[in-house]
Amino acid sequence: MTDKKLLDSNDIKLVTVYAASSGALKPLYYKAAERLGEVLADAGKSIMYGGGGAGLMGSVADGALRRNGEVHGVIPAFLQQLELTHQGLTSLTIVDDMRTRKQLMLERADAVVTLPGGSGTYEELFEALTMKRLGRWVGPIVLVNTNGFYDGLLKFLQQSIDECFMGSKHLKMWAVVDHPEDVLEALNTAHVWDSDAIKFANVTPANA
Ligand code: AMP
Repeated sequence: MTDKKLLDSNDIKLVTVYAASSGALKPLYYKAAERLGEVLADAGKSIMYGGGGAGLMGSVADGALRRNGEVHGVIPAFLQQLELTHQGLTSLTIVDDMRTRKQLMLERADAVVTLPGGSGTYEELFEALTMKRLGRWVGPIVLVNTNGFYDGLLKFLQQSIDECFMGSKHLKMWAVVDHPEDVLEALNTAHVWDSDAIKFANVTPANA
């Protein structure tokens, strides 16, 4: 495990984006999500996401497609039947259930970016964090803290470390940016992580 910047941005080809399905947010959230889509597309990154046409999910896809980016959706059949699917995607994979969707979205991802969201987004983010902590998935994880939305969560994560539920090294699993424009830099400078993480996944008095 090293602290140094070793990532080559060209290695990150597919970015999985976790984001809210809500259609009742302040406009600034949708603007930031669209901007993220544009930024990733302009950088030549493909996006994988939940396939929804609504909420911040839809905005990310719209932003990227507008800039001719590739956007791949993964959606469970029951949601597709509800016609919540984005209609203009590069590809759409229909899976049996939410669990399969989540697994596919993570295992194919070179990196994960999380926009503000609700329980679905938290679940996805925390699975990525847990798999990274165990060294089973090792890509960068970037939180876009639009409007300070994640301030409370970040405080809670810090408390988890302060009280030794996680180790101080685990702080390096994620990076936080205020604006979508800062995501590429965060991806490129993420702390390198590897399967050795399993060695310090459990916190002990010696490694806290
Ligand atoms: P939430 O943050 O609770 O709105 O959930 C959004 C996240 O969960 C997204 O990243 C999706 O992968 C998944 N998700 C939840 N609801 C939907 C939906 N209606 N359409 C597509 N994906 C959804």
